Amino acid sequence: MTDILKLITEKLHGKIKEADFEGANIVLYTNNENFFKEGEPKIKEIVNEIKKRVELRADQKILPDKETVESQIRKIVPEEAGLTNIIFDYHRSIVIIEAKKPGLVIGKQGSILNEIRETTLWTPQVQRSAAIKSQITENVRSVLYANNTYRRKFLNEIGKKIYKEWNPEKSNIWIRLTFLGGARQVGRSCLLLQTPNSKVLLDCGVDVASSGKDKFPYFDVPEFDISQLDAVIISHAHLDHVGLLPYLYKMGYKGPVYMTPPSRDIAALLSLDFIGVSYKQASKPLFSSKDVIEMVKHSVCLNYNEATDVTPDVRLTFYNSGQCLGSSLVHLNIGNGTHNLVYSGDFKYGKSRLLDPAVNTFPRVETVVTESTYGSKNDILPPRQKSEEELIEIVNKTIKRGGKVLIPELGLGRAQETMLILEDAMKSGKLEKIPIYIDGMIWDINAIHTAYPDFLSSRVRSEIFQDKNPFVSDTFSRVGSFQERRNVIEGGPCLVLATSGMLVGGASVEYFKEFAGNKNNSLIFVCYQGVGSLGRQVQDGAKETRMVVDGKEEKVEINFEVNTIDGLTAHAGRNELLSFFNNMRPKPKRIIINHGEVSKEMDLSSALYKLNRVETNVPRNLETLRLR
Ligand SMILES: [Zn+2]
Repeated sequence: MTDILKLITEKLHGKIKEADFEGANIVLYTNNENFFKEGEPKIKEIVNEIKKRVELRADQKILPDKETVESQIRKIVPEEAGLTNIIFDYHRSIVIIEAKKPGLVIGKQGSILNEIRETTLWTPQVQRSAAIKSQITENVRSVLYANNTYRRKFLNEIGKKIYKEWNPEKSNIWIRLTFLGGARQVGRSCLLLQTPNSKVLLDCGVDVASSGKDKFPYFDVPEFDISQLDAVIISHAHLDHVGLLPYLYKMGYKGPVYMTPPSRDIAALLSLDFIGVSYKQASKPLFSSKDVIEMVKHSVCLNYNEATDVTPDVRLTFYNSGQCLGSSLVHLNIGNGTHNLVYSGDFKYGKSRLLDPAVNTFPRVETVVTESTYGSKNDILPPRQKSEEELIEIVNKTIKRGGKVLIPELGLGRAQETMLILEDAMKSGKLEKIPIYIDGMIWDINAIHTAYPDFLSSRVRSEIFQDKNPFVSDTFSRVGSFQERRNVIEGGPCLVLATSGMLVGGASVEYFKEFAGNKNNSLIFVCYQGVGSLGRQVQDGAKETRMVVDGKEEKVEINFEVNTIDGLTAHAGRNELLSFFNNMRPKPKRIIINHGEVSKEMDLSSALYKLNRVETNVPRNLETLRLR
């Protein structure tokens, strides 16, 4: 037994049957019923002493059988909570209660949960069931349940590694950060953080707009050894940050991946879609659904503001980054406060309908790695209001002349934002009553949104709580089959939201082929178009392109109206980037710029240097910076 577990069991002489790690948390199992019910003050004492999370559970031996417990729970939980499922994790003495209204299962100050715990001796956990049925969330959860035994062992192993070198003192360590991808480019974000005790990967993305080796981070370098990797941390579930994660598991990685619960579900969904798109493009997918399951099995999820140790000297906290559902700023406390790094992934420092703005107040911060997608002086985004009006105007104009509108969307984040704008405009009469079709993965991702309202803006959250869920509005029709898609293509004026956002595979490409030739139609770009993507070529004014139509390569003429609305992007514009740092507390000493085209990164770097008088860097891929 590891020293710390021994120390705790000895303190609780004889009352603890077993002690285990669950990641960085410590779980104690007791077969003494009284101690289980009354031992809480003793446990609090220990928590205060070691400053780690400790949970007391009942040992399997004293647990009542499942049928009894299930009927007790059904009696205790009020009817209105909308119980949907009760799942037993026997190996961890946990009972998971899924309900439409989790708040009612928890009760005032946890009163109902406490009653369940005392009555059944099982440790209850509550999960929200999605308002729209989410197949992927259900599948992800069932993979986790099916692997309970494995998970208990796996989480215990993580804990052993974390506590092996456990040292509560501030340590005098070196820290290095290597850019394996995402430096001076948008796409394949991947950074390797190293200390004497840790090797941690931050993000593991693909560059969907590139081809060949350039699609992937530089994994063929000496400092990257998959067998030495301690942890992977994912900032959010866009493919440029998570797309290659299942591949790591295919290559034999068996360690944990840390992310928020919605990021886990969306990453699983996008990865499975990525496999499908590869097949459609007649290329061999990089990984299989088996590898996606491995990813889910090894996921460790954290909510915002919930800190956990990931290695002996790295402590992780996620903060809201305002970019898409579950997206995070990654805060790393390295060496017990020796150095604090904030890695931004992507962020938005402005209010959107869907999300609150990115957090920029931290307990401590010395170094920030920031994105710079819209970092140049010219990237002043128009006000949201104006952008929303522009969107509505283009749609109205197109419909009036009998055309169809295509908006290629990233499935995650922007599509939901656009939906909220359209729904609102139609309700208030600014937008004509027209059919709005949703094709591709957007619908599935809507469902995931309804499973995790705690990650949404306060306004949308309260709408969902009051059963006025905007994502189930009858303004939107789902296109679910090939025939339904034909009907939309052959039908009258309408608006189509379809993935992918850069016209690289997916439903949007199918509509593009059909709509592009007719000058009455319109295309509206609302998200970033990667260099090399079809979207970027069209945005830059291409008049024709070659595409596969009905199995043959053909010339497709681009006659329709092409519009770009920058103000609706999920990224921070230039002004938001500057004010994010201007208002940041505390002030960082160093800002490292990545995730941008090179000229934008340079431009942002010099502006941040002048405004904040801090060291700024614009590293290249493969460069290593010493943080300390
Ligand atoms: Zn990104």
